[in-house]
Amino acid sequence: MDSTPFHHDVEQQSSTATSSMAQKPSNSQHHAGRKKVLIVGAGAAGMSTAHHLSQHPDKYDITLIDAVDYCGGQAFSCPLDKDRHGASWFNQGVQGGSYIFHHTLTMFARQGYHADPVNLQVSFGKDKTFWTNVFPTDLLARHQREIKRLHFALKVMRWFEIFFALIPMKLFFKLWFFSEEFTNTVALPMVALFLGTGNEAPNVPSIMLERLCTSPTYGMWYPYDPTSIATNHPPMVVFPNFSEFYETWRKDLISRGVTVRLSTELAAILHRSRSSGVVVSLKQRTPAPDHHNPIGDDRDAPTFEEHYDELVLCCLADTAKRLLSSTSSWRERKVLGSAKFSDDITITHTDSAYMKKYYQNFYSESLAVRTLGGQDQSSRCDFAATNFRPMYYIKMYDQDRSKLEMCFDASNYQPQFPDKVPFEDHVFQTIFLNKDRDGHLWSDGEIDESKIIRKDWWHQLCHSYTHYLFVVPWMMFLQGQRRVRYAASWTLVNAHEVAIMAGIAAAVDLGAEYPEDLEHDKFAFLSFWLYYLLAYGKWYRRRYTAAAAKSKRAGEESDRAKQGKSWASGLYGSVYSGPGVTREERTTWREEMKVGRSTGNLAQGNTQGRSQP
Ligand SMILES: Cc1cc2nc3c(=O)[nH]c(=O)nc-3n(C[C@H](O)[C@H](O)[C@H](O)COP(=O)(O)OP(=O)(O)OC[C@H]3O[C@@H](n4cnc5c(N)ncnc54)[C@H](O)[C@@H]3O)c2cc1C
Repeated sequence: MDSTPFHHDVEQQSSTATSSMAQKPSNSQHHAGRKKVLIVGAGAAGMSTAHHLSQHPDKYDITLIDAVDYCGGQAFSCPLDKDRHGASWFNQGVQGGSYIFHHTLTMFARQGYHADPVNLQVSFGKDKTFWTNVFPTDLLARHQREIKRLHFALKVMRWFEIFFALIPMKLFFKLWFFSEEFTNTVALPMVALFLGTGNEAPNVPSIMLERLCTSPTYGMWYPYDPTSIATNHPPMVVFPNFSEFYETWRKDLISRGVTVRLSTELAAILHRSRSSGVVVSLKQRTPAPDHHNPIGDDRDAPTFEEHYDELVLCCLADTAKRLLSSTSSWRERKVLGSAKFSDDITITHTDSAYMKKYYQNFYSESLAVRTLGGQDQSSRCDFAATNFRPMYYIKMYDQDRSKLEMCFDASNYQPQFPDKVPFEDHVFQTIFLNKDRDGHLWSDGEIDESKIIRKDWWHQLCHSYTHYLFVVPWMMFLQGQRRVRYAASWTLVNAHEVAIMAGIAAAVDLGAEYPEDLEHDKFAFLSFWLYYLLAYGKWYRRRYTAAAAKSKRAGEESDRAKQGKSWASGLYGSVYSGPGVTREERTTWREEMKVGRSTGNLAQGNTQGRSQP
């Protein structure tokens, strides 16, 4: 879809990249007249920066490095026993997003991939504290008055958004006299689920809940139901095989002249100045068997120096602060140091007994209520009796109900799995949050070791209100200072879409263009424009749309303009309807079946729903 400025032989370039891993590249590779740009981190943000700079091969000589031996960063896939689980891979951690992810979805399309649609079903709590968006339960019946009060409070919040913008959720719920049970079991999980706020939900700005419930464009719980809170099944998109997508993208970057050097870590920034650029110290890393090299290992590996004109740090804020080391200013240390991270672990397993002990996996007539607030709810209960298949779970710890454990049922959620798999063979991803603070609450030791597929540690952004006070608004004063820019999802919200936009913004700030087709997609452009204004304090001026209006009048609208326009549908154009997302659920499964990577249904007798016993 993008114009390909020049094509090299992909494999030849790959081997060049691999051999360059072993040698100290010389600075004589600098091409006269082109800016030498080093991008650190080949996650979504770094790949996006490289991609958008590579549209201008005459202007930039681009090097992309990553400490690990694959591209994708936090987004990767792992192998599975196909015969047991029905699919030969699963995406770890990063599952999917919403139809407002225009940049992510177009990027899938540009590399020949697609996401699949799904309507989200959730399961929060267990037994007496259980509720879901699929059918009404006893818990919601008990809290009818508070559900109505929250409806009113959200309206007030919408009128006075600026005032509530930074008030943490825990304070908001106290100010409105909500009970602890309602706050912890109903309200906090609604926010914890999205944006990966997890155990920081009590500290996130209350405006996030307001937006989730009242925004017709990105409010996953919109419209708020004054009786059942959430009755909609939010339309989501589930991502394709991330490892394959990023590997294809890596090859595409190489074909566009980008030098991709994996297993190469930025050890330190030695010198940086506006006049002479940046001198960095790099080192070669030894790939780890599971591909995930801890940053800082290979301590004795020799380092070597390189010189670049510009540096884009696409790694986490605390890593960026460490890398700037002696070259950092007081302001950089203060802003980057204010971003908080926690160490979380995802345990991928098949321990259905653990799931049955702590989560509500199936429809339960005894917990369902058929009348709520005087309204007949039978049709929702009847639907749930055969179709309840939770994808996202939240458990509140008994010792402290404001602290959570999260879980995905990958077999229900990810589109490469067959429609029906016995519950005992489902693949679950249970996430234990914030080891340092909340590790004493974790029940990870109860998961049967023999049923664990793998364990993955994450260093995750805490979306505390302090992030929006001390980090986000100040990033514009750091960007471009002495040749260093920052692109990563932590610059706003921990989501794949933000990482992709952050990469485009860094490229644009270095002088690249925002793609013509996306400029015509009015929602994509508005999102990018706002991000760029917030993160760089700069107004991005349209390059194509004004000219296109004239051409259109002359009957010469470009194909890219036509395509981009057609991608934006729904309110404010927020619903992406272009290539990169299919219309039918589990299209991936059908495609994988054809190539023998997924099986047919594994539970022929279990005809209704995916999870029912
Ligand atoms: C468990 C989990 C679930 C998630 N679920 C979702 C979801 O469902 N939907 C969604 O939209 N988002 C989700 N996210 C968030 C999303 O994955 C991230 O926001 C996004 O992938 C971050 O991309 P990034 O490029 O900013 O950073 P990263 O992916 O972290 O990339 C940074 C890269 O920098 C490299 N690096 C770091 N230091 C150095 C160095 N010194 N030298 C060289 N390289 C270095 C790292 O190896 C890494 O590859 C989830 C995240 C997690 C952890």
